[in-house]
Amino acid sequence: MASRVHCDICNVVIAPHAHYIVRMDIFADPSIPELNTEDLEEMDADATFAKLIEQMKQMTADDLQDQVHRRFEFKLCPSCQKRFLANPLGLPRKVSSGEN
Ligand SMILES: [Zn+2]
Repeated sequence: MASRVHCDICNVVIAPHAHYIVRMDIFADPSIPELNTEDLEEMDADATFAKLIEQMKQMTADDLQDQVHRRFEFKLCPSCQKRFLANPLGLPRKVSSGEN
């Protein structure tokens, strides 16, 4: 028997293969100047890269992961998938506390 899939938002049990997968990749704006070849030519690319590597060596793996790339993966039931698509950022993030 296939393992049950629970919706990561509402925790409902989802029928096999009826769920949606949301992937989020969060990464820093890649400011390494690899996009602009003219800039690269003007710059001492080897030295710049070596410096970058040196900086990276001093970071922990977690630091690096946080800075460079985070990937999240969530499983959603069909109704949460619709809601997610309508508001992918889950706005507003701030929940007003005065409405109970
Ligand atoms: Zn759900």
